Amino acid sequence: MQPFYNEQQTMLATTVREFATEKLAPRAELVDDKAEFPIDQFRGLAELGLTGMTIPEEYGGSGGEYRDFMVVLEEVAAACGSTSTVLITHVSLGSQTIRHGGSEEQLKRWLPSLASGEKIAAFALTEPGTGSDALALETSLTRDGDDYVLNGSKLFITNGAEADIFSVFTNHDKSAGHRGVTAVVIEKGTPGFTINPQHGKMGMKGCATAELVFDNCRIPVSNRLGEEGEGYKLALKILDSSRIMIAAQCLGLAKGALDAALSYSKQRVTFGKVIATRQAIQFMLADMAVELDAARLLTWRAAALYDEGLAHGKESAMAKLYASEAAGRIASKALQIHGGVGYFKPSAVERIYRDQRVTEIYEGTSEIQRLVISRSLIGDL
Ligand SMILES: Cc1cc2nc3c(=O)[nH]c(=O)nc-3n(C[C@H](O)[C@H](O)[C@H](O)COP(=O)(O)OP(=O)(O)OC[C@H]3O[C@@H](n4cnc5c(N)ncnc54)[C@H](O)[C@@H]3O)c2cc1C
Repeated sequence: MQPFYNEQQTMLATTVREFATEKLAPRAELVDDKAEFPIDQFRGLAELGLTGMTIPEEYGGSGGEYRDFMVVLEEVAAACGSTSTVLITHVSLGSQTIRHGGSEEQLKRWLPSLASGEKIAAFALTEPGTGSDALALETSLTRDGDDYVLNGSKLFITNGAEADIFSVFTNHDKSAGHRGVTAVVIEKGTPGFTINPQHGKMGMKGCATAELVFDNCRIPVSNRLGEEGEGYKLALKILDSSRIMIAAQCLGLAKGALDAALSYSKQRVTFGKVIATRQAIQFMLADMAVELDAARLLTWRAAALYDEGLAHGKESAMAKLYASEAAGRIASKALQIHGGVGYFKPSAVERIYRDQRVTEIYEGTSEIQRLVISRSLIGDL
């Protein structure tokens, strides 16, 4: 527990840690091995009210701030990386896009079933031709009376193969730059909407990644989030805040690796002594703990700025950049401390090492975070 948690956050961390230890950690290896979507684990999180966190109670959510959700994610990710990716995508990407982009009628229509965990959310921005450059979206949105018609495809969509409600970013006017991007909600089962599961990921294998294909997919205009042309701003706003939750996920992955390394170093005997007595091992553990705390403080600052309604774009990029790369270094050291055992399944560090890697890629690569930070420092040239 962290000394800066308030009483409620300490209780929350204890509850989630107990759940994670009992229900998530024992199944993490299976989720990874079989690339199995952790649906029972998701339902368990829902029973605890965690699928509705940060969503206001009037829309069926359990409320709470980003700092509270950060506390939750660290505990979930320490036990099972895939489950934490599913939860982040559901809450801070999919549901929050509707919360921030939707009208009162839309919030009432979609948020309660998402907050309760009855339905699962996804967020679809990336396309085969564009990830970092979100302005180059090709998925077209054409008005036809009271409907829109969508054509195009989305790639690498987390929760995609299991989700019910998709926030999808489209282009209604390619000549209009960022004013051409419009967000809509598409429900599973809509004619012309096909979901193709994607296989072969290196890590985070349980998070049901999918390609989404829209072939003359018709939706009512009432499924549009905000006005035409407001989608780009909405996507950036959601990514700015959700990155803080990826940083929180990295804290959990790093904590899982550090805990495993600590425990192993106190058991493994070489040359007549446990390896925790060796300074080479002790210094690795010390460096891992320092990096984890530094990442946690950067993440806490970004979450606090968000909760206070203050500018947080640079700070959330800093938290995501540092926490993801620190988690990589920590996972690598943890694996080194395990020696050969760490290189083989079913060691937790082998899984964490693979799970961590994508945190430097999704929701903006490390290079894109550096771009956001440096632009904020330098300003327009
Ligand atoms: C497991 C997984 C889950 C994902 N989940 C989702 C999801 O749920 N929803 C969603 O919409 N997307 C999702 N993504 C997509 C993810 O956000 C993108 O892969 C990511 O933004 C990078 O885009 P890209 O793959 O097209 O790489 P590219 O944009 O093609 O980048 C390739 C390389 O070039 C670098 N680069 C690009 N532009 C610049 C620049 N201007 N300056 C310097 N370097 C640059 C990048 O950093 C990278 O190293 C997921 C991806 C993965 C792997």
